[in-house]
Amino acid sequence: MRYVSTRGNPEQKRFCDILLEGLAPDGGLYLPVSYPQIDANRLQVLRSVYAEQGYAQLAFEILTLYIDDIPHNDLRALCQKTYTREVFGSAAITPLRALEPGVFVLALSNGPTLAFKDLAMQLLGHLFEYELARRGEALNILGATSGDTGSAAEYAMRGKKGVQVFMTSPHGRMSPFQQAQMFSLPEPNIHNIAIQGVFDDCQDIVKAVSADQSFKRRYRIGTVNSINWARLLAQVVYYFAGYFQATSAPQQRVSFTVPSGNFGNVCAGHVARCMGLPIAKLVVATNENDVLDVFFKTGVYKLRTSEQTFETSSPSMDISKASNFERFVFDLFQGDAPRVKQLFQDELGHSGWFDIGQDPVFSQAQGRFGFYSGRSTHADRLRTIQDTHKRFAQIIDTHTADGLKVAREHLQSHEPMLVLETALPIKFADTIIEALGHPPPCPAALADLSQRPQRVTMLPADVAQVKAFIEQHCSDAA
Ligand SMILES: *Cc1c(COP(=O)(O)O)cnc(C)c1O
Repeated sequence: MRYVSTRGNPEQKRFCDILLEGLAPDGGLYLPVSYPQIDANRLQVLRSVYAEQGYAQLAFEILTLYIDDIPHNDLRALCQKTYTREVFGSAAITPLRALEPGVFVLALSNGPTLAFKDLAMQLLGHLFEYELARRGEALNILGATSGDTGSAAEYAMRGKKGVQVFMTSPHGRMSPFQQAQMFSLPEPNIHNIAIQGVFDDCQDIVKAVSADQSFKRRYRIGTVNSINWARLLAQVVYYFAGYFQATSAPQQRVSFTVPSGNFGNVCAGHVARCMGLPIAKLVVATNENDVLDVFFKTGVYKLRTSEQTFETSSPSMDISKASNFERFVFDLFQGDAPRVKQLFQDELGHSGWFDIGQDPVFSQAQGRFGFYSGRSTHADRLRTIQDTHKRFAQIIDTHTADGLKVAREHLQSHEPMLVLETALPIKFADTIIEALGHPPPCPAALADLSQRPQRVTMLPADVAQVKAFIEQHCSDAA
């Protein structure tokens, strides 16, 4: 399998090359040259693989279609090491549970940091360690987080050989739970940097450091952000696992609703659908930051400025632009890279928006690719959390509540609707208390989290000081 950039760079790459890279050199995102096809017979085989051999083996069967530069036995071992009951809390790894008839919740949040990002990031940790050892190289991961991404990355990379993590976060602006999760990690290769500023300051610092090519090369700076193809690929697996749990008849169709921000999660559903998984609808649920909902309704994609980006009670969906969206647009235009480049580099780069509402391909977003969308607000979130608690005695988190609210607007009889549960409610306890008057339950393993000693270095929002910190603590050999 070879990978190409959405903006037409002629160079084709292999999986392990793009594994450690971020954007393509032309600013585009990597995609495989084609999506391997799963026909009806093969789908039945995969159904029994999941039932009889489990999630890790299913992951291997899907990943191996996209990865031909890691020997089979090594890739299988990496999957087996990643997807265990010990790490994800159940043999199903992503168990499905029922709400009302026809509506299910696919639980993706039982990994170490209680958000779906663990499912991809845990695999990425093992892949990085493997590939760096094979090359005799080291990597210094630099990131910016306001919550879920940073903790998932740290829990995936903790103690991994050849990897140091430098994670910046805005001082005092993460939830106490998220802060305790990250700052209590004892491993010496994890460095928490609290920046005296807001999240945008952290992101600007990461951008400035990464733009300094000589510093980047010299200190082998890398990232693990959501545009990484390996992360997206790992997420394809649970669409299959969810499908098998919701259906028994061959080729029965289901729909998914995905609480969305950077479009990584739902893009994995799009890939699964393009491979032939019988998905009817892919419903994109947004919060008040409804960039994607506006696009799917009108064809207008308009970035928000930081002033126009609301701080909401589903904060992991508070995005100003959807980083992975370019991948879908590439498929929508059937791989027309010059057009993608014109839209994302020229139009978006200059005016901050584009409009393809009049282009004939726009109708295919729904017709050919099954995309629908909807929006949910703080009031909707509270109502959905209350209703779910009252009627089903279940507590769902704020992001999942956005998903459930929007899912109900797109139900179709005879087609099960699977809402992806992207976090556990304990991560957003304040809003649960606002909705229900009491906090959500805390998993036993984390009961003492707030008592654990914390480790963090505070720095001003200053690129030079962050660089100096990296120089002092980086690893320069595996
Ligand atoms: C990251 C995240 C999302 C958004 O996922 P994308 O892949 O960025 O669309 C939604 N909910 C939670 C809880 C998250 O952590």
